[in-house]
Amino acid sequence: MLPDRVSVLVAGGGASGFMTAIAAAEAGVADVHLLEATAEPLQKVRISGGGRCNVTHACWDPRALVGHYPRGERALRGPFSRFATGDAVAWFEAHGLTLVEEADGRMFPRSNSSESVVASLRQAARRAGVQLHIGASLQAVSRSSGGFEGVARCSAERVTHRSTAEARQKSIACRRLVLATGGHPSGRMLAAGLGHRVVPPVPSLFSLALAERTLLELAGVAMAPVDLQLNLELPSAEPRVFRQSGAVLITHKGLSGPALLKLTAFAARDLKAAGYGGELVVNWAGPRSAVELEALIDQWRSEQARRQLGRWRPWSALSRRLWLHLLAAAGVDPQLRWADLPRTRQRALVQGLTASRYRITGRGPFGEEFVTAGGVDLGEINMATMESRVCAGLQVVGELLDVDGITGGFNFQHCWTSGWLAAQALANIDPDV
Ligand SMILES: Cc1cc2nc3c(=O)[nH]c(=O)nc-3n(C[C@H](O)[C@H](O)[C@H](O)COP(=O)(O)OP(=O)(O)OC[C@H]3O[C@@H](n4cnc5c(N)ncnc54)[C@H](O)[C@@H]3O)c2cc1C
Repeated sequence: MLPDRVSVLVAGGGASGFMTAIAAAEAGVADVHLLEATAEPLQKVRISGGGRCNVTHACWDPRALVGHYPRGERALRGPFSRFATGDAVAWFEAHGLTLVEEADGRMFPRSNSSESVVASLRQAARRAGVQLHIGASLQAVSRSSGGFEGVARCSAERVTHRSTAEARQKSIACRRLVLATGGHPSGRMLAAGLGHRVVPPVPSLFSLALAERTLLELAGVAMAPVDLQLNLELPSAEPRVFRQSGAVLITHKGLSGPALLKLTAFAARDLKAAGYGGELVVNWAGPRSAVELEALIDQWRSEQARRQLGRWRPWSALSRRLWLHLLAAAGVDPQLRWADLPRTRQRALVQGLTASRYRITGRGPFGEEFVTAGGVDLGEINMATMESRVCAGLQVVGELLDVDGITGGFNFQHCWTSGWLAAQALANIDPDV
């Protein structure tokens, strides 16, 4: 049952809210209450990483770690110098959860199931004495002389009063308030009501839809490494260019894969401004430049002279289906022998390999991780304590802040870091709580 008055109220039972509440209670803060609007706390942890939960990323140097955050990079230097990947791994280990690194650096629970992350956090909260209120959402909040006055909406089965509409609303006062409501609009509304500027949310980490139909016929082809260049025309600003390298996946709508998702994350705001239109230039040859390819082709002309182009692809990592597509796009008959490749066709082929141009027709589906870019303006937050600079006694953590990372466990890492820092501040700055 939700009391009328509590010391610390954490609104939002996701990754950041649980970390804040657990770490605060473990650091000696008494009377910590965690409100979760839905019937299922930690729901995003549960569904994350395809049900495996990519808890963090094996990037141990805080200076390198910040480079994975399109929004928040500079501001996160301080927080990560105090609680970064190694600290998160140790924290989970101390709470009974071993994390294992995969070849690409992503870290998952040894069980390979997100349920063990959920279980670990819920057990830690119970053991630390955190009071969890499920089905209770913070609807409104305002400053009061002793802290905050809020109104919570509790689902019927949690309320012992008569089952009237009025009985579902519950007043609650707290000395300290932590907003951990993720990308949900209600948290942005509460933060704005307490005086915060909220950077408008836009989607991040999505694939791109492309117009080139013949490329889409190659759906399922993965290529690495590939260099990507995104050219955007903006209505009232200079054109913008974004670059990224890595693995991509051709889909039935366009292009996806880690490098493409990273590209859209860094370009999220400009892509929105450009109406999700623009040009994508793909260097399918990765590190090989046009000049190098010209020289290589001259070599193949003599070394592979009698081989047909369609039967001998230049390097094994180049997908055969993609190679045939590039030959067709360059107007090269795949039955032609290497010795007979005309110079004009050679130039077209090199152009296709190193700078294929595709028109972007819109935003494709989201990647495995969906996050919003935008949220509470970092300029109004003391990043050492997650305390609001405009509203005393308020702290903001997790995805509600204008911070988002690329795919790979970086978004959760920010939740662990901001939650842990907020908790230390609750224990240290206000020992009376
Ligand atoms: C499908 C998917 C997969 C993902 N996979 C990964 C991954 O593998 N690795 C990674 O790093 N990131 C991943 N992410 C991103 C990651 O899940 C988020 O960055 C992270 O969950 C944000 O945590 P949070 O605690 O800030 O917010 P949330 O997890 O959104 O939690 C906020 C909670 O607050 C509750 N709430 C909202 N408003 C109120 C209110 N007014 N009162 C009370 N409660 C409220 C919500 O119900 C919710 O439970 C994934 C995201 C998605 C959608």
